[in-house]
Amino acid sequence: MTETISTPAALPVALQHRFADELPELALPWRAEDAVEARLLALSEDLATGLGLDPVALRTESGLGLLTGTVVPAGATPVAQGYAGHQFGGYSPRLGDGRALLLGELTDTDGRLRDLHLKGSGRTPFARGGDGRAAVGPMLREHVVSEAMHALGIPTTRSLAVVATGRAVQRETVLPGAVLARVASSHLRVGSFQYARALGAQAGDDQVLRRLADHAIARHHPDAADADAPYVALYDAVVAAQAELVASWMLVGFVHGVMNTDNMTISGETIDYGPCAFLEAHDPATVFSSIDTGGRYAYGNQPAVASWNLARLAEAMLPLFDADEEAAIAIAQESLGRFAGLYADAWTAGMRAKLGLPEGLDDQVLRPLLEELEELMTGGHVDHTSFFRSLARLARGDAEPARGAVLDLVAFDAWAERWLALEPDADAMDRVNPVYVPRNHLVEEALDAATGGDLAPVERLLEAVRRPYDERPGLERYAAQAPEDFGRYVTYCGT
Ligand code: AMP
Ligand code: MG
Repeated sequence: MTETISTPAALPVALQHRFADELPELALPWRAEDAVEARLLALSEDLATGLGLDPVALRTESGLGLLTGTVVPAGATPVAQGYAGHQFGGYSPRLGDGRALLLGELTDTDGRLRDLHLKGSGRTPFARGGDGRAAVGPMLREHVVSEAMHALGIPTTRSLAVVATGRAVQRETVLPGAVLARVASSHLRVGSFQYARALGAQAGDDQVLRRLADHAIARHHPDAADADAPYVALYDAVVAAQAELVASWMLVGFVHGVMNTDNMTISGETIDYGPCAFLEAHDPATVFSSIDTGGRYAYGNQPAVASWNLARLAEAMLPLFDADEEAAIAIAQESLGRFAGLYADAWTAGMRAKLGLPEGLDDQVLRPLLEELEELMTGGHVDHTSFFRSLARLARGDAEPARGAVLDLVAFDAWAERWLALEPDADAMDRVNPVYVPRNHLVEEALDAATGGDLAPVERLLEAVRRPYDERPGLERYAAQAPEDFGRYVTYCGT
């Protein structure tokens, strides 16, 4: 059901409405609020091109209309999506897009269906007490961090653009408002399944849940359709995708910060960059979010939380696994039971690569090496990102940077001797260990400047993190740790 539609200024956008058509129970037709004065702050040109959108056209008035939802292409059906979710362990039966809209789906130049979604586009019936808006700083944060994640090769939703709305947003202070245009392989979440399951419980049948699962299979895991038990195969595919995803976060030192079940996708893409941040000092207990006082979403807890969230997904999907609940639970337990092994395999393979070691190493050699490294890094408060680059220098014969980073030199030297004996490939290490990640002090500095109207620091930061492995002269400060006086970093959820 693809229509080619023109906006008033003839911006040709073929927006489909598959989600709205197939899952009307989860899709509330809605419109964005008007922008007062739209101004483009950031645009991902390569993403635009890949979607078949002309970056030049997106910069025009009708382009900004599309990016803020105020000029809706004829025939499009923007909807607020309904979902539920466990937030910090407590269940909320009705969350949904309180300040977001799914504009529709686009087919990209590779033939893949992608959601075009807005965040900060005004109150919807799911807004509860919220104002429906978003501020420039947090939307640019999502832009910068998701661009960095994409460049690091980590599955993620993408930011197409950030547009200032000219509206004031009341937070602790009055801030300039913005809308983020986000692209994802879909916005289906664990919380979507929880919501659909609850609708079925009210109605006494599971047809919405079944339709949602069919939709998810078609969009993300089409092979599951041919399996003996397609819904179990779907669940298995989500478990595998999330195990890979969380391993990739751990390898790069990413702390999501708010792994609620409404912020976990079925596709396996990272979503909702709120209080997220990258580690500097390596420590499993690291928490950045101001509201995560119990450390539920600490760096080192992320694999366990992912598994907990997947258990909630299994609960929501139980009627699809087997009509007999006990049999369904047994199936779910077997599938979820594979998460730990899949995660460990992905993490171990990733660490092996970060250390420049070949495939096929004896587990008895590799595992203790990795465990001891973890201890050395934690004990020495070692900067997660730069340390792996320092190890590559050690592999080339320059021991000083790595030795300068650790505390226990005796233990480190002993570890290094065993590692070097395995003949690590330093060039291979530099291809997988980034030089540049969006460091917290640089993100803050750039967002503060942007909030005050100066976009140059955001643009320079983007330049660094969009080519994370490519060390370039002049970008030294983007590779360096925060200065001492930056202190402990705290991120805020009130985005
Ligand atoms: P998030 O923390 O962004 O994942 O959002 C959690 C829930 O709160 C979602 O249902 C959002 O739509 C909703 N929400 C967050 N901020 C606002 C806001 N300013 N106005 C309305 N709803 C919001
Ligand atoms: Mg969310």
